[in-house]
Amino acid sequence: MLTRSSHDVVVVGAGVVGAACAYYATRAGLTVAVVDRGPVAGGTTGAGEGNLLLSDKAPGPELDLARLSAGLWCELAAELPEAIEYEAKGGLVVAADPAGQAALAAFAAEQRAAGVQALEVPADRLAEYEPHLAPGLAGGFHYPEDAQVQPALAAAHLLRAARRAGAELLLGEPVEALLTGPDGAVRGARTARRSLPAGAVVNAAGTWGGELAALAGVHLPVLPRRGFVLVTEPLPRLVRHKVYAADYVADVASGSAALQSSGVVEGTPAGPVLIGATRERVGFDRTLSTEAVRRLAAQAAALFPVLADVQVLRTYRGFRPYLPDHLPAIGADPRAPGLYQACGHEGAGIGLAPATGLLLARQLAGEPVDFELAPFRPERFAT
Ligand SMILES: Cc1cc2nc3c(=O)[nH]c(=O)nc-3n(C[C@H](O)[C@H](O)[C@H](O)COP(=O)(O)OP(=O)(O)OC[C@H]3O[C@@H](n4cnc5c(N)ncnc54)[C@H](O)[C@@H]3O)c2cc1C
Repeated sequence: MLTRSSHDVVVVGAGVVGAACAYYATRAGLTVAVVDRGPVAGGTTGAGEGNLLLSDKAPGPELDLARLSAGLWCELAAELPEAIEYEAKGGLVVAADPAGQAALAAFAAEQRAAGVQALEVPADRLAEYEPHLAPGLAGGFHYPEDAQVQPALAAAHLLRAARRAGAELLLGEPVEALLTGPDGAVRGARTARRSLPAGAVVNAAGTWGGELAALAGVHLPVLPRRGFVLVTEPLPRLVRHKVYAADYVADVASGSAALQSSGVVEGTPAGPVLIGATRERVGFDRTLSTEAVRRLAAQAAALFPVLADVQVLRTYRGFRPYLPDHLPAIGADPRAPGLYQACGHEGAGIGLAPATGLLLARQLAGEPVDFELAPFRPERFAT
């Protein structure tokens, strides 16, 4: 049951981005309803890894957003009374040969100029960071600001905090239409069970954000970018940081639809090692790709030979919300007054969620937004 007949804001999507929007909107004094067709974190948020990375981002708007978010995650970890498994573990990027190390050094120099901490690790000191790394690597870079959360817990606790501040949560209700006012502006959402009148609607529908935008007649080309992750049997803490090979950054930035994989290995407090992640655009195909799994396993064992004899207990997949320029859509959509976009965060939505929520809440509350949102404007794609 809803206690209010109308709200300032209806947020569509109870993934981490919708949860962050609801959290910051309630903190800005707005009345909020969150609606999802499934459970909390039932979309991509429940199928990601939870790395909060600066290390893989070149200077530019995404890094600026990630830096803002990194500070907010740190605050949230202290503010939320319940554990979201925030771990400031740091990242280690390694190079196989001197050319790779030189490329990492050039990338790190640009990042440092943008304010990121990046420390060169010579080959003979890699073992101090990761004792089980393969021998013969050319070196690496340590990024102490890289961190991690458990994404589903993070979404759930952000929503719990929002509910304590008055937000209402409706689960198992697909939004089928958007309500419009006499002037044509978006003024709420409708599910099969009810109308949800509101001053504004936030599209936090992740990979399905394009479908929701279409309900308001606007084009937002969000596509699924599939990723597989392997989960090993529980192990003693063999891997201390998030560790990945230099070619991961190029994979992330690539627009290719073809299968890409570069080993990204991290331990978890519970013991299993997570090995991610592939990238490919094959629609919403949920078929297990043995090729993707094989490549991930081989790359992880190349980085950490000790993993070669370890059992993989399971593999899972998810669909990243991909926009063609790899940047999310954030902010008021001028093509559909009353509709605010907060989707398309691709492989960085856990990391970028708090900044997205904070900035959107400021817009919704009519407060000044002291951050350049132009690169994220929703109307930037040709129809
Ligand atoms: C393998 C893999 C690894 C990843 N690793 C990382 C990582 O390490 N770090 C990182 O930052 N990111 C990572 N990501 C990306 C991250 O998971 C996503 O960017 C993020 O979860 C997107 O969150 P969201 O809230 O926008 O979308 P979602 O979590 O998908 O939430 C959208 C919600 O909208 C709901 N919805 C959709 N349409 C409707 C409708 N019509 N009516 C009602 N509800 C609707 C859905 O049910 C869903 O719950 C990874 C992704 C994958 C697949």
